[in-house]
Amino acid sequence: MTQKETWLETLHDGFGQYFSVDNVLYHNQTEHQDLIIFENAALGRVMALDGVVQTTERDEFIYHEMLTNVPLLAHGNARRVLIIGGGDGAMLREVTRHKSVEQITMVEIDAAVVDFCRQHLPNHSAGAYDDPRFKLVIDDGVNFVNQCQEKFDVIISDCTDPIGPGEGLFTSDFYQGCYNSLNEGGIFVAQNGVCFLQQDEAVNSHRKLSHYFKDVSFYQAAIPTYYGGIMTFAWASNNPALRQLDVQTIQARFDAAGLNCRYYNPAIHAGSFALPQYLLNALRS
Ligand code: SAM
Repeated sequence: MTQKETWLETLHDGFGQYFSVDNVLYHNQTEHQDLIIFENAALGRVMALDGVVQTTERDEFIYHEMLTNVPLLAHGNARRVLIIGGGDGAMLREVTRHKSVEQITMVEIDAAVVDFCRQHLPNHSAGAYDDPRFKLVIDDGVNFVNQCQEKFDVIISDCTDPIGPGEGLFTSDFYQGCYNSLNEGGIFVAQNGVCFLQQDEAVNSHRKLSHYFKDVSFYQAAIPTYYGGIMTFAWASNNPALRQLDVQTIQARFDAAGLNCRYYNPAIHAGSFALPQYLLNALRS
């Protein structure tokens, strides 16, 4: 039996995860990053950028349902949504399920990620790129939020880790631009790493976001291929009540939206804002 090729993730020093590679669908250096999409028997198609897993067909629904439904149902009346990053198209797919949303802008720095994920990860976008409410902008998210005149109700930073082009999406410059790009009552959320292994990212984001937003916290979910425990999602708004909705209110909005999810439900929404004590202690220190 031939030895299968393996792909090693290089996000952390000293330990990590590997994937057997059954078939490489695409591997190239784009204008911004090393992009690989390959097939793995256990997880389906896998996409990685600069040696870090971005998404797998098998577990992506957890991440995308949580980064969309929690802010959108908490807001309750989101009409204009901005996605930063999100090149694989699954965040867009989940936002388009909300029929009350009227306009969706996605700002992705790397056109090649969009092109090759449309081709090789079709289940991620699932036709969402053809939604008439959708507008794609190829730009650095930092530039966009600091120059755009438009305002949004929810901003979702579906970014890579703070390496390479993703570094700018964890800066005060970016957070200030997002603050200025939100309507009254707006909510900002962002992928903010696995807090057991990337605790500094959460502490730094919390400190920087707190310069601009009155209410900054996190919510969480465990996504298997973002290994090491729960992933924290940064949450920022000017109204603390938005992250303290009771399950009944969330349930009513969930039912009205007619959503059909595989991970998200109103009880998970409400419970996801409970954080481990070690993180709470780190945020207070
Ligand atoms: N779910 C993944 C995670 O949690 O790491 C993120 C997935 S998505 C593929 C990340 C996207 O962010 C990529 O398409 C990447 O090209 C994009 N990106 C990185 N830096 C960016 C920037 N400064 N502005 C806009 N998009 C950026």
